[in-house]
Amino acid sequence: MSTPSKFDTIVIGAGPAGSAASAILAEHGLRVLVLEREKFPRYHIGESLLPFTCFPLKRLGLFEKMRHSAFVKKYSVQFVSPSGKASQPFYFSTRYETDVAQTWQVLRSEFDQLLMENARTKGATILEETTVQELIQEDGRTLGVRARKKSGELIEFRAPMTLDCSGREAFVPTRLNWRIREPKLNKVAVWTYYRGALRDAGVDGGATTVAYVPEKGWFWYIPQHNEMISVGVVAEGKYLTREGVREPKEIFIREIGQNQWIKDHLAGGTQVGSYHLTSEYSFRSRYSASEGLLLAGDSFGFLDPVFSSGVMLALKSGTMAADAIQAAFEAQDFSAERFTEYSRVLREGLENMRKLVYAFYDPNFSFRKLTNKYPEMAGPITDCLSGDVNKDFSALYAAVAESAEVPEPLSYGFPLLRNTAEASCA
Ligand SMILES: Cc1cc2nc3c(=O)[nH]c(=O)nc-3n(C[C@H](O)[C@H](O)[C@H](O)COP(=O)(O)OP(=O)(O)OC[C@H]3O[C@@H](n4cnc5c(N)ncnc54)[C@H](O)[C@@H]3O)c2cc1C
Repeated sequence: MSTPSKFDTIVIGAGPAGSAASAILAEHGLRVLVLEREKFPRYHIGESLLPFTCFPLKRLGLFEKMRHSAFVKKYSVQFVSPSGKASQPFYFSTRYETDVAQTWQVLRSEFDQLLMENARTKGATILEETTVQELIQEDGRTLGVRARKKSGELIEFRAPMTLDCSGREAFVPTRLNWRIREPKLNKVAVWTYYRGALRDAGVDGGATTVAYVPEKGWFWYIPQHNEMISVGVVAEGKYLTREGVREPKEIFIREIGQNQWIKDHLAGGTQVGSYHLTSEYSFRSRYSASEGLLLAGDSFGFLDPVFSSGVMLALKSGTMAADAIQAAFEAQDFSAERFTEYSRVLREGLENMRKLVYAFYDPNFSFRKLTNKYPEMAGPITDCLSGDVNKDFSALYAAVAESAEVPEPLSYGFPLLRNTAEASCA
């Protein structure tokens, strides 16, 4: 049967944001088309979940499936100094009930397939190997998209709403020149996988470890199922490429020597597959929405991954976007203004996390020093690190500001209102 060309909403991308949004939109009874460039299961980075993914996963009806999955259970995060000294792990159970106190380390190929199949089961039409090429716009209003199938055929789809969930490639911000990079968080990441490397004992076996290298660079060490460990290093490009070393493998192997804990843990394992590199780092979109068009997940904003916030924010923004679109259908109003509250909540969460990311990279800041001086700040820090990002953290950031730069919120990322568009065209 051929795919119809008219829908209520077109979703670009079937990552966590796109699949979450399309599942909820379908549940709302809307006709949803998801266009995904890849054939699933496909590889993706972003493997450590935060405790607060619990809520979107419950909303999507996937929490029980996750509980019975093979994914490694994550109960804590720990920080390790370059000399190899590990902090006391931050156990989520010190602050939350059971369902939130444990989350997972996932293989994204499997996790994203689960999310996508869930959307399909709920009624979304999903076309894989179909790449969105351009937006169809008229008088500032988005009417649909043109996409290319694997066969090369160009097809056109129309809908009152288009939702961009295309990830860090940021289809809409790139095409409309809305993508603004954040120079202070301009890092490079190099990563690979090890089989059979050391895992800590018992409940700590699934912990995320953040292990420092000099100049505020850091390793992630994420235990996965099938005996695999995901391990990567993130730092300023000029640090990682010092002395002219540019090959990802050479960079990675040299950096192992910069942290004794990483060196010891990898010693008994075998490196598997290729070395990955990315230098496309933190950015935010100038706008979150325009008439008939909305952004969710990384496409709206990508934040440095040090606190593993990306998938939680993608699932949360995907579900929020679906509810905002449903409300737009009820009102038969697809103007950008409709998405003002959605954008406020999204920006608030990103800004709260961004402040902690800035502190992490500030040479004068340390979690230990802060909690020694203000023990009562351990709670708000755990909340932010767990993904409970939409709350008032002003006391925490007043304390952080004593030792580190706390950035002002970015001045953009709001809906593109009609009068703004007209003013900027004048
Ligand atoms: C080095 C690194 C480490 C990270 N570690 C973590 C971590 O530990 N934990 C965490 O939570 N997050 C982590 N992240 C972030 C995480 O990867 C993202 O935040 C998350 O994948 C965002 O989900 P999304 O649905 O917005 O986009 P994506 O997961 O990127 O999905 C976008 C989808 O859109 C498709 N697409 C793109 N363009 C088109 C097009 N034109 N037409 C059709 N389809 C298209 C893509 O194929 C893709 O399937 C990390 C990121 C990096 C770079």
